[in-house]
Amino acid sequence: MSEDYPLTLMDLEKRFRTDEACRAYLTTLRWPNGWVCPRCGGRQGLPIRRGLWRCGNCRHEASVTAGTIFQDSHLPLTTWFRAMWHVTSQKNGVSALGLQRVLGLGSYKTAWSMLHKLRRAMVRPGRDRLRGTVEVDETYWGAQEPGVIGRLTEQKALVIVAAEEDGKGIGRIRLRCIADLTKASLHGFIGQSVEPGSMVRTDGLNAYLGLKGYIHDRQVQRLKRWLLGTHQGAVGQGHLDYYLDEFTFRFNRRKSASRGKLFYRLAQQAVQVEPAPFATLIKPPHIGRGGVK
Ligand SMILES: [Zn+2]
Repeated sequence: MSEDYPLTLMDLEKRFRTDEACRAYLTTLRWPNGWVCPRCGGRQGLPIRRGLWRCGNCRHEASVTAGTIFQDSHLPLTTWFRAMWHVTSQKNGVSALGLQRVLGLGSYKTAWSMLHKLRRAMVRPGRDRLRGTVEVDETYWGAQEPGVIGRLTEQKALVIVAAEEDGKGIGRIRLRCIADLTKASLHGFIGQSVEPGSMVRTDGLNAYLGLKGYIHDRQVQRLKRWLLGTHQGAVGQGHLDYYLDEFTFRFNRRKSASRGKLFYRLAQQAVQVEPAPFATLIKPPHIGRGGVK
């Protein structure tokens, strides 16, 4: 299927006016080559009613939203589609409060839960590892000025970044919170984020030594300066990993010409990730205390 997405907000409003239209769109994203039973992998699906199929092989009934982030949501899909558009059209991230206002939702908790489910969809399942020459560096997220690195507070989280070199610039990135600067944490992150055989550039930290499966180059690099210059929103501790995923999603697609294409990617990934029931999302923080951004 060729990539098919709305180009403007007007387009979105016109095209996804009903839940039925949203469901049809999600169906083509989830099953581009025809319906597949989530239980047995059978391909003989019998439509029972709108958006619901019964497997001709194992009799399992599955809807297009079952097993996705939209599962068990009481909100209309039309609201979800507007939320996805809003989230992908903001340059520096979205707050739950902002989402609540734009969608006219009665409850902050609903907006917060939506936003966090969408953030979970921003990581593509089975995504590729970085390759080529990859710089790896670590920093304290939220340390706005280089001067504050020396006197850290409990609030600062340790974040590790891997970035592909792209000429003088930066290609794709991966970001993650790490507990400490031990060999296990650093090598573990590199193993998950960088394709073996690549050239990995790090600073002189001893814990990077003995990196197996990569060409290791230790030299001073420019990554920390870049990280410190990026927009680092205020984020509650437990949510930082999801915030970093959102940051990565935006950053890696920053050259994408069309907002619609970001919307398309998010919708596509939203039907590929596991559902995240509210209980598994972390308790929403109080509004007005920094909040989630
Ligand atoms: Zn089946």
